[in-house]
Amino acid sequence: MLPRIDHIEVVEPLYQEFARVLQTKPYQGDISCQYSARLSVATDNSVYQQLPQLVLNPRNKFDVQIITQLANEEKFNKIKFSARGGGTGTNGQSLTPGIVVDLSKYMNRILEINVKENWVRVEAGVVKDQLNAYLRPFGFFFAPDLSTSNRATIGGMINTDASGQGSLYYGKTSDHVLELESILANGDFLHTKPMSMEAAEELSQEDSSLGKILKQVLASCKDNREQILEKFPRLNRFLTGYDLENVFNADLTQVDLSRIITGSEGSLAFVCEAKLDLNEILKAKTVINIKYDSFDSALRHSPALVEAKATSVETIDSKVLNLAKQDIVWHSVSDLITDVEGKVMDGINVVEYNGRSVEDLAEQVAELTARLDNEIENSIGGIIGYQVTSDLASINKLYAMRKKAVGLLGNTKGRQKPIAFAEDTAVPPENLADYIVEFRALLDSHNLQYGMFGHVDAGVLHVRPALDMCDPEQEVLLRQISDQVVALTAKYGGLMWGEHGRGYRSEYGPEFFGEELFLELRKVKGAFDPLNKMNPGKICTPLESTEKLVSVDAIKRGFYDRQIPIEVKDSFKSALDCNGNGLCFNYDADSPMCPSSKVTRDRRHSPKGRAGLMREWLRLLEVKGVDVLKLEQDVNGWSVKQLLEQTLFKMKSRFSNDYKNDFSHEVMEAMSGCLACKSCVSQCPIKVDVPDFKARFVNLYHTRYFRPLKDHLVANVEIITPILAKAPKLVNSVLGSKIYDKFSSATIGYVNTPLLSVPTLESSVNKQINAGVFEAFDLGKLEALSEEERKQYLLIVQDPFTSYYDAATVESMMLLAKKCGYKPVLLPFKPNGKAQHVKGFLSRFASTAKNSAEFLNKLQALNLSMVGLDASLVLCYRDEYKQILGDKRGDFSVLLAHEWLMPKLDEIKANIQLSSDIDYQLFSHCTEKTALPNSEAQWITIFQALGLSLQKQSVGCCGMAGTYGHEKVNLENSKALFESSWEPKVERLNSQQIVVTGFSCRSQTKRFADLKARHPAQVLAELL
Ligand SMILES: Cc1cc2nc3c(=O)[nH]c(=O)nc-3n(C[C@H](O)[C@H](O)[C@H](O)COP(=O)(O)OP(=O)(O)OC[C@H]3O[C@@H](n4cnc5c(N)ncnc54)[C@H](O)[C@@H]3O)c2cc1C
Ligand code: SF4
Ligand code: SF4
Repeated sequence: MLPRIDHIEVVEPLYQEFARVLQTKPYQGDISCQYSARLSVATDNSVYQQLPQLVLNPRNKFDVQIITQLANEEKFNKIKFSARGGGTGTNGQSLTPGIVVDLSKYMNRILEINVKENWVRVEAGVVKDQLNAYLRPFGFFFAPDLSTSNRATIGGMINTDASGQGSLYYGKTSDHVLELESILANGDFLHTKPMSMEAAEELSQEDSSLGKILKQVLASCKDNREQILEKFPRLNRFLTGYDLENVFNADLTQVDLSRIITGSEGSLAFVCEAKLDLNEILKAKTVINIKYDSFDSALRHSPALVEAKATSVETIDSKVLNLAKQDIVWHSVSDLITDVEGKVMDGINVVEYNGRSVEDLAEQVAELTARLDNEIENSIGGIIGYQVTSDLASINKLYAMRKKAVGLLGNTKGRQKPIAFAEDTAVPPENLADYIVEFRALLDSHNLQYGMFGHVDAGVLHVRPALDMCDPEQEVLLRQISDQVVALTAKYGGLMWGEHGRGYRSEYGPEFFGEELFLELRKVKGAFDPLNKMNPGKICTPLESTEKLVSVDAIKRGFYDRQIPIEVKDSFKSALDCNGNGLCFNYDADSPMCPSSKVTRDRRHSPKGRAGLMREWLRLLEVKGVDVLKLEQDVNGWSVKQLLEQTLFKMKSRFSNDYKNDFSHEVMEAMSGCLACKSCVSQCPIKVDVPDFKARFVNLYHTRYFRPLKDHLVANVEIITPILAKAPKLVNSVLGSKIYDKFSSATIGYVNTPLLSVPTLESSVNKQINAGVFEAFDLGKLEALSEEERKQYLLIVQDPFTSYYDAATVESMMLLAKKCGYKPVLLPFKPNGKAQHVKGFLSRFASTAKNSAEFLNKLQALNLSMVGLDASLVLCYRDEYKQILGDKRGDFSVLLAHEWLMPKLDEIKANIQLSSDIDYQLFSHCTEKTALPNSEAQWITIFQALGLSLQKQSVGCCGMAGTYGHEKVNLENSKALFESSWEPKVERLNSQQIVVTGFSCRSQTKRFADLKARHPAQVLAELL
């Protein structure tokens, strides 16, 4: 049975005291000392792992000031901090052994916009895409782009001087910062904006924090100007550190301290607010995808493309393209990057032109395409083809694919995984092709796998060689290659950290800047942060400090992961493979990706958080000497003796003094918040499958601790509901009463229990059978049919929700099939088991799945078509059944309604044409549209073919997800999720227009918007 896990690292006494005193201050933010909260920010997208002591989530800049003022008291001198935003750093930029101050949770307000002067003022935790969504109606955008734009924050972007696609034209973050409001380690506010040299010199005489900083900056930058100009590379990219060059304008009449803070990786101050300059959205774009016979050809062609005045030139190699082809993302771009007949496409350049209208761009585009035609005809430069598009939606899809590239690389097979450590080198673009030849030779000499893509216009190359960080020898190799790449980039006049900042690569700073300039950096650091409290070890240390810089040899995640036995790692592969790129933190309420992460903004409640906790839990079990795989086998058995033993053990565990002191509770808390919507399984580039490992964890957790009553209720829903449905009116009169709701909320923890369908499905269908409309299920009769006759039949697979709570939908599907010329037959209800899986009753789920699969395989053997109406249950047959039954699942196939209709569409539309003046709006179930990305388009095609208009609405999770929304503990989050995405959209419509594929979503729409939504099959059936 599962032991108690108490081997967790406790918070150091100094930090415990800090947290205690902070609680007595008027600080309004969160203070988290829990191991799980600390672990959830102990990693980023890098190979490093560093456990902090505390996590703080300030609510506003005054909270940040309270934190820093308190830490400035002498007894807290040794307290260290790191600011954190999206935590998407690739080299441990935000990791710290001190306190993580996460500004992303609350400090994410857009404060002010001035459209006349083209600027916006925001808090540091605003996500880049959030800002651009806000700016779009004003016709503006914040130009610096980065692949992580749906989760990286403005604070993080400023501190890494982020940039990406289009930087040659639009510049980097530092080029768009007008003013900053920061807080220093001593608690002082620091407002920075450009000022005249005279004003700066005058202020530098003052005995204030600003005065001292200005004094040092002026001394360091003026006296060493020549050396600075000589040393700082002439690249489109800034080298992160302190921008000693651009703190002055070209003629030295202006000083802008914001330039020093931008790119300082949180080592100087907490940036709380920023005033940013905006660009006008140019309405027209034309993109030309140029295809090449080799990646080298693509690279060698890029300078000519820059010369052709493109706004941006992005390159992708064949490895990345091939990975994209295997991902969900490919269905959106496949027609934009088609293969060239008879040629192998081994690289592409995506060339973009921007302008006010497509006509404005026509001349440039025509010039380039004429050149391309000539080059293709004469076999010049390895160009094999190109495609042009000016459709903005298609262009966005292309860039979305490109933005996913890093994640896709993480999904490569085998133990060696692409990792970041030399992933953002930059060299002058004219040197790029030669540089890459040498870079490739270097990686090939170590027999490493890698994929490449990048911003060739800026000479930036993204490469993530695949290494196994659990192998100590490969960790040594990382250091070796790291050193070699530093030397190679220097040889080509470039930088190893060309885009993402330095983080643990800070040790290369002195080598790059030279001793003298590095000394100046240290003096500047000392002026801002004399006690080395801000992200210590990153960039540099104050001159007076004896503390060390961080190093690429720092403790890595592999150190912890390698403690988990290989078989366990393989078995819990997806938790181990999460590479922390943070795609699951997607801020957008209308994206299905992780509703629990969105609604809580708590990193523990994200796929990344849950995967990290799972890894640590597995590691700690190993430390305890527990064979977790054996444990799983043991608990999946069943006997009276075992049951008695377990009950006794659980009673002992529950009433032991150490009950609370168990890390498993923290893991359980994080898992309990998961809606099991499965968006992570398809949207995460690594396909981290939280519902799978959650179910396995919960299964084991309850070998030690009792299950709550509501879990038993949910797991037995498929037994209880058919019984209740024997007297639906009576049951509804009880379930629908306020007294029952209060009672159920207080005792079981279950609210707003849905009402059963009246009349029941059974009675409605029986009526139709008696009237000769439907046939009753009769296996013998079906077996006796000929192959040809069976083709006329459609078997309706029941699920507990649609059948018992939404019978009209099932009946509608049967009527629809009938009108389409088929013979629908309602199969007897067989439990599906999904609810048991969600609640981690794995052995019971296995037996339910076995029974159901046996029954469905029998029908499959007769070659009969089967349709189910609820996506999550139908998809459970495909996914969870495969996981639990393996080969024993058999090959039965249950289709969703649209999957059954699609291939028959020509035949159906020839017989049926419908008409309606309603503009139907489709709201799809998140599990369905993420697992079956074409499902929405297919429903639209079906409606159109039958003469109806249907449009897709982009929505996230509705917040119900099976029974999640009915659990009292989840009620608030369930409502908040509905309000953030569904409510504003459904409220604009009348209920006739609302077409909803998911049963949960229809219930939620009824519950919170009081609108009755219909399944698409019901809409169609009603029009027939
Ligand atoms: C898959 C992937 C692709 C990427 N692509 C790009 C790209 O195209 N272009 C690019 O530039 N980068 C890219 N990055 C790197 C990363 O996304 C950027 O560096 C981003 O700017 C970090 O933002 P964040 O909010 O996640 O910051 P974090 O990772 O949380 O922090 C980054 C640094 O900023 C500091 N910081 C954060 N907020 C504050 C604050 N308010 N005050 C003071 N210091 C603060 C932290 O201490 C840390 O040093 C990529 C990363 C990944 C994982
Ligand atoms: S769960 Fe997936 S999307 Fe989230 S950080 Fe891990 S790999 Fe990235
Ligand atoms: S199943 Fe849904 S809620 Fe759970 S972790 Fe995955 S995306 Fe988040």
